[in-house]
Amino acid sequence: MDRPRVGELSPPDRLLMGPGPSDVHPRVLRSMSTPLVGHLDPSFVEIMDDVQELLRYVFRTDNQWTIPVSGTGSASMEAAVANLTEPGDTVLVPGNGYFGERMAAMVERAGGEAVFVEAPWGDPLDPAAVEAAFDRHQPDIFGFVHAETSTGTLQPNVPELTSIAHEHDALVIADTVTSLGGVELRVDEWGIDVAYSADQKCLSCPPGASPLTLNDRAMDKVLARETPVRSWYLDLSLLQEYWGDERAYHHTAPITNVYALREALRLVAEEGIENRWARHRRVAGALKAGVDAMGLALNPEEDWWLPSLNAVRLPAGVDDGTVIDALLEEYGIEIAGGLGDLSGEILRIGCMGHSARPENVLALVSALGNTLE
Ligand code: PLP
Repeated sequence: MDRPRVGELSPPDRLLMGPGPSDVHPRVLRSMSTPLVGHLDPSFVEIMDDVQELLRYVFRTDNQWTIPVSGTGSASMEAAVANLTEPGDTVLVPGNGYFGERMAAMVERAGGEAVFVEAPWGDPLDPAAVEAAFDRHQPDIFGFVHAETSTGTLQPNVPELTSIAHEHDALVIADTVTSLGGVELRVDEWGIDVAYSADQKCLSCPPGASPLTLNDRAMDKVLARETPVRSWYLDLSLLQEYWGDERAYHHTAPITNVYALREALRLVAEEGIENRWARHRRVAGALKAGVDAMGLALNPEEDWWLPSLNAVRLPAGVDDGTVIDALLEEYGIEIAGGLGDLSGEILRIGCMGHSARPENVLALVSALGNTLE
């Protein structure tokens, strides 16, 4: 076999305004060229402490068990679902978007039974429907998606949902992949037992180290399991030996991704989490005004508008693929189309982290306007 002749890496310049990843801040990119230390080096242990402290700040939690999971958002998602779900458990999951379905698939693989609380794609869950589903199925766990990337829908009333679950003695898992660091999220105050996220959305990191937090109640359930978690890699009872006091080897941490996450979280702390939520609302608000001026409408109602992911309804007769391709090829701007029930009906425009800046929104709105003319 001949030696492959592969040229030097030179991806095109893109403005990332899709459902993720978002543009990475230059400081985060620089942190990734920092020389490695060993993953058990005392200096790396300090870096792990920093990351945990910063993650607690961003999640608004005091949870001791707050770590980055090695892997993308699906890894922290599976860590949450697989560790909490014991064979025979019933888990109530949302039926209003793509990622509820993924949650259900993970529940089934963990040996649980997934039952759905139904809502149309693009609507949030109605607390009355959640209550009814609890009465009907008596689930052990309730999972919901705070920011549904597939539909651009924010789940309001989170404290109401978590209260329903707790009155029924269930634990709550929140998908915060597209909300963490961009949209108001208060893990402790809102009664969320487990929240998982990703780092390539509103934190603007390259994907690879995915935030996860569990309170003691959730961790007690994990540590009291009668059967081991089916995944060795994501077993939190083993991972805690690395991220807890012992700092014992479990697997080699993705050191460069941890550097990047630390720098991205430092940027959040410098900006201030509340200021960051306000910036996302302000900048995405300008995007909303821009598409409105073009005569286009957002798919979700105002009360559940998700600033980090704006679902814009396509005008009749316009093909989403044509618009998406034109933006990428002519303007170097990445956006995405709808999924599942909203396939062909919406454009998904991200406004996340370092991408959530006025100049980017201006570029996007004018490119979209020209493309739709
Ligand atoms: N949950 C939500 C809401 C997401 O948007 C995503 C990814 O887009 C995931 C989970 C899975 O994350 P990843 O693609 O990083 O594995």
